[in-house]
Amino acid sequence: MKDMSDKGLLIVGEELCQQLVGRRDAFDAVEAVFGAMARGDAYNFPVIREAIGYADALYGFKSGFDRAGQVLGLKSGGYWPGNMDKGLTNHQSTVFLFDPDTGKLAALVGGNYLTAVRTAASSAVSIAHLARKDSKVLGMVGAGHQSAFQLRAAAEQRDFEKVVAWNPHPEMLPRLGEVANEIGLEFEAISQEQLGAQADVIITITSAFEPLLMKDWIKPGTHLACMGTDTKGKQEVDAALVASATVFTDEIAQSISLGEAQHAVVDGTLNEERIIPIGAVINGDHPGRTSADEVTLFDGTGVGLQDLAVASVAARLAEEGGHAQRAVL
Ligand code: NAD
Repeated sequence: MKDMSDKGLLIVGEELCQQLVGRRDAFDAVEAVFGAMARGDAYNFPVIREAIGYADALYGFKSGFDRAGQVLGLKSGGYWPGNMDKGLTNHQSTVFLFDPDTGKLAALVGGNYLTAVRTAASSAVSIAHLARKDSKVLGMVGAGHQSAFQLRAAAEQRDFEKVVAWNPHPEMLPRLGEVANEIGLEFEAISQEQLGAQADVIITITSAFEPLLMKDWIKPGTHLACMGTDTKGKQEVDAALVASATVFTDEIAQSISLGEAQHAVVDGTLNEERIIPIGAVINGDHPGRTSADEVTLFDGTGVGLQDLAVASVAARLAEEGGHAQRAVL
């Protein structure tokens, strides 16, 4: 966020972010920053996430610097479980962008919509680079807030004909079915085993703490994007499935400590050296999928640089369009 701080602090609210940042913008920003991370041009700093002992809230910071894109900042926020009753979403976050030349606060950007759109962009980038070109069936495990964003972004990556879905709370599935139908895709709620047998691409986006998909249910050539596991102890798929797949991730340090790979690493069936940064595939330094039968798995843990990348797009578009508010600090 260079050259803006002298004009005053830019404020880009949630509504404006929704109007300005589309799926294509998010995809391009996330793909570019994953590439920059793999080249060593962009760094995430250690994440802080703490239970604050008040309102059952989890609060924290994700921060980083993208030297290539000249984006410095942090996302701050977390999870307030009581918010629903107050008419607010439980996840709340705000992105702070600083001028990397001076450290001056340059922009405040709403982070709620951007978190969903950047997480969906992450799995979409993995599908674009790793899924078989002839993938026809998209499997969705999860039907919460993020799932609709995931479905819309994934649907743009291949010529899918059908969506099959399973969720531990089946009453949530019809809403996801409406999204699939809205974008012209057939939708069917099926069992976990049937989903594994039918899907060419599977996205998992739940808050699970135990495996929902087992290795033997998945057919050869499947691409999985495991997006829900972003904390120590969480787990969405069988560790044996992770260990047997070719594993890619946004950031290896997070993948082994709080991502889907954590369990296979702990039980010794997956070695850290076998995990490939997706940025290496984006940069052309790794071939990605090498056969039609290979199971590829993307461990999308969610990094601060993704938030900063999409927030800087929001700030730039707001600036260019003359939409954003300004304030003097
Ligand atoms: P949500 O609360 O709207 O939906 C939760 C989903 O998980 C639903 O499908 C629900 O049925 C399921 N679920 C709830 N409790 C469960 C349990 N005990 N076992 C199995 N499934 C359970 O949440 P959301 O906003 O859609 O987020 C889904 C997940 O994605 C969360 O775990 C969140 O932390 C994670 N997330 C990851 C990233 C990332 O970058 N990787 C970003 C945002 C959110």
